[in-house]
Amino acid sequence: MGNLVAIVGRPNVGKSTLFNRLLGERYAIEDEKAGVTRDRIYGKTDWNGIQFSFIDTGGYVKESEDIFQQQIEHHVKIAVEEADIILFMVDFKDGYTPLDEDVAQLLRKMKKTTFLVVNKVDSPSDSFILGDFFKAGFEKIFPISALNGYGTGELLDELTKHLKHTSSYEIKSNLPRVAIVGKPNVGKSSLINVLLGEERSIVTPIPGTTRDAVHSIYNKYGHHFILIDTAGIRKKTKIKEDLEYYSMLRSIRAIEQADVCILVVDATMGITHQDLAILRIIEENKKGIIIAVNKWDLVEKDSRTINRFKEYVLYQIAPLYDIPIFFISALKKTRILQLVQAVSQVYHNLHQKIKTSELNRILLPFIELNPPPVYKGKRIKIKYAVQLPTPHIAFAFYCNLPQYIKEPYKKMLEKKLRESFSFTGCIIDLYFREK
Ligand code: GDP
Ligand code: GDP
Repeated sequence: MGNLVAIVGRPNVGKSTLFNRLLGERYAIEDEKAGVTRDRIYGKTDWNGIQFSFIDTGGYVKESEDIFQQQIEHHVKIAVEEADIILFMVDFKDGYTPLDEDVAQLLRKMKKTTFLVVNKVDSPSDSFILGDFFKAGFEKIFPISALNGYGTGELLDELTKHLKHTSSYEIKSNLPRVAIVGKPNVGKSSLINVLLGEERSIVTPIPGTTRDAVHSIYNKYGHHFILIDTAGIRKKTKIKEDLEYYSMLRSIRAIEQADVCILVVDATMGITHQDLAILRIIEENKKGIIIAVNKWDLVEKDSRTINRFKEYVLYQIAPLYDIPIFFISALKKTRILQLVQAVSQVYHNLHQKIKTSELNRILLPFIELNPPPVYKGKRIKIKYAVQLPTPHIAFAFYCNLPQYIKEPYKKMLEKKLRESFSFTGCIIDLYFREK
């Protein structure tokens, strides 16, 4: 946690290419499955056992060569504020350009750890002529080819080395950590105010928890948790794109630190592209998820409106389905307590440990009745299952021929698990292993 790496640089130097290479094919496949076509700006990966997240600062707003320099600078600034390490990318074939120098100036001012990445060094012999780039004034220069992978291993090694030392911003507390996330103007601040609101005395910022965020304690009606990052969400900017971009990065930060995330959406706008993008980030981090449809007071309704809207939300968030959805009004303070109760419930669900004996007592008869389909003339036998000691919910199934178990069958097992136990709001991972 806290290993957030931002890739910055002017357009066309190869930021997205590197981003895609670092995150690998896994993500391409997931994109296909979800059928979402949009620019991905965030993803997680691990290298030598260290997990880190990348933000591609070019992918969010369409960039072109004639984009205003000021606009690039805005985005660089926002990303750099949020990130732990900066990869400043330049183009070997173009040399060190005046626009690169503009970005470099900005980065030097911001005093974050920065690695200069010289991309498009497609053959190792090129890396002997990097002299031009030393004038950027960064200590470490990494010649790479995002296209063919040259040098990227060394870059990741160095990142890992560095991040090991800087990843110590865990919050020292056993309380559930809750993030309230969403795009601008959906009512996050209003909700936070309702939660912490009048009784200011219960708001205790925990000092020294993170470098730039203040967390608050919520302790009412028998529920006790930490609200992440409630200060600093406000940012003075009038530019809509900047505001959206900023809230996206802020959400990433908060989600990575949270146990449970409340995704706030605006009932009057429905589920938008950006809501789904944030949902995907929560899912990718395998955090607890609750959806709060806010501004419900503004919706004209009859007795069927809630159910219809719920169906609509479920349709939009598919293939996720076992997620608590609440229709709230931060303004009128409706269903706030239900929301708080759901936070505790999802947190509880996330930490369930199912005994192996109980798990198999339920699963094995089910599997016997519903065996995996015969594949290439071979019978697949699942012997037993265990819950894994991971921070999120995961199970391993021991079987012969694990590679022959297909997605629909996995979905069926997941459904059975959800029916048999209480995993609402949790992402479940299933692994199949040979015994
Ligand atoms: P971005 O605007 O910084 O995200 O740049 P892109 O990732 O979209 O890349 C811009 C162009 O440079 C594309 O045509 C890429 O195929 C090309 N490119 C990226 N990395 C390399 C590389 O390592 N070598 C070469 N020769 N071309 C590259
Ligand atoms: P944030 O940007 O997500 O933090 O959103 P704010 O909390 O600043 O709210 C944006 C606007 O929506 C403000 O004008 C709020 O007064 C309004 N708002 C927030 N919650 C509600 C609600 O439940 N009902 C109505 N009608 N307006 C709301």
